[in-house]
Amino acid sequence: MKINIIGAGIGGLTAAIALQHKGHQVEIFEAAAELRPVGAGIIMASNAMQIARRLGFAEAISSTGIVLERFGIGDHHGNPLQLMDIQAVRQKYGESSVAIHRGALQQILLQHLPNPAIQLNKRLSSVEQLPNGRVKAIFMDGSSSESDLLIGADGLRSATRKAILGEKPLRYSSHTCWRGIIPYHMETPSKGLELWAKTGGKRIAMIQVDPERVYFYYTEKRQPGFKVPVAEQIAYLSKQLQDFPPQYAELIALAKPEEIFHDDLYDLKPLSSWHRGPVMLLGDAAHATTPNMGQGGCQAIEDAWYLADYLERYPDYAGAFAAYEQFRRPKVNYVVNTSFMIGKISNLGGEIGHRLRNWLLSATPSGVAEKQLELLFKLR
Ligand code: FAD
Repeated sequence: MKINIIGAGIGGLTAAIALQHKGHQVEIFEAAAELRPVGAGIIMASNAMQIARRLGFAEAISSTGIVLERFGIGDHHGNPLQLMDIQAVRQKYGESSVAIHRGALQQILLQHLPNPAIQLNKRLSSVEQLPNGRVKAIFMDGSSSESDLLIGADGLRSATRKAILGEKPLRYSSHTCWRGIIPYHMETPSKGLELWAKTGGKRIAMIQVDPERVYFYYTEKRQPGFKVPVAEQIAYLSKQLQDFPPQYAELIALAKPEEIFHDDLYDLKPLSSWHRGPVMLLGDAAHATTPNMGQGGCQAIEDAWYLADYLERYPDYAGAFAAYEQFRRPKVNYVVNTSFMIGKISNLGGEIGHRLRNWLLSATPSGVAEKQLELLFKLR
């Protein structure tokens, strides 16, 4: 089939790789004028790494990024409250989790596209279903492209979603978030911990993404639209990080100002359908989640693999789309809802609130924690 994909993010590129492996003719249309290796870091968890192994790029991710030994949540002193032993995850599910620079991940995906047919400067404006069953993608520059199927992998504010399902309001998480890169090598690069302050929804993590670069993210509870002038961001972050062990404020002072990104965090309340006719949504376009479980990109990668798989197993796309959605929906909804709830728990503050919250994190029985990991990491 001829399949057009809107968006060359993690989901769109992985879908193109998976569909080209199955013999489809795929073309990607991306709004940006160029694909620059920018961004901060990302964790590719075991489930995404298992798909990457099937698609042939797991080795490239592991050797470029930092394979994690553990990851978890700690209190504001740096004492672990909840820890995931990633060695044990690797033994059980076959793959570790890996922290990597986003630009490096994008380059790996591009290198693993069998046929890199990407058109840049193509911002989707509308979608038209044709009488012959095909679908036409229409772009802002007036051009258009017809295909048998159209995949909307155009992110949180998806134009494809709007075109097929109408306006769907985003849900504000209550958090604003800074991310960036610090040129630094930590003593224990494979041990990641996200620290939670006593109040204000303040959370900080610093994670090595390659031998020379540390990725940080910092969130706090704010009304949407809160802004700090770019020139004052490092000073602001240093001040906010006084609630944590002193090395956090010291390291943030080394961050590169041009590599700090600030966004309010939104998700999408689970939708009842991700497709209409020959148009399917994928990744954040279908099910954007808050980053509290580090799963948005991983779920986009799972979508890509299973969508290609279902299209191969069913004689017609309508049957494949319906079965794919039925299979993917429970896991994706679990991620979106649990992640949103974790954000709310992180806001519990004050003397009693933060004690309750820390108890909730540290008292999770090991059987429950294992079940949660299985829900995330076990693939079919
Ligand atoms: P995107 O990455 O948003 O890509 C969409 C693409 O579509 C872009 O290239 C865009 O330019 C293009 N586009 C947009 N509109 C149009 C249009 N109209 N026409 C054509 N092209 C268009 N996930 C993880 O798995 N692990 C993590 O550790 C993690 N950490 C995160 C930390 C933070 C602070 C945040 C905010 C998110 C995090 N995520 C993480 C989530 C992850 O970044 C997203 O889920 C993932 O990028 C979604 O990929 P996507 O391809 O669906 O969308």
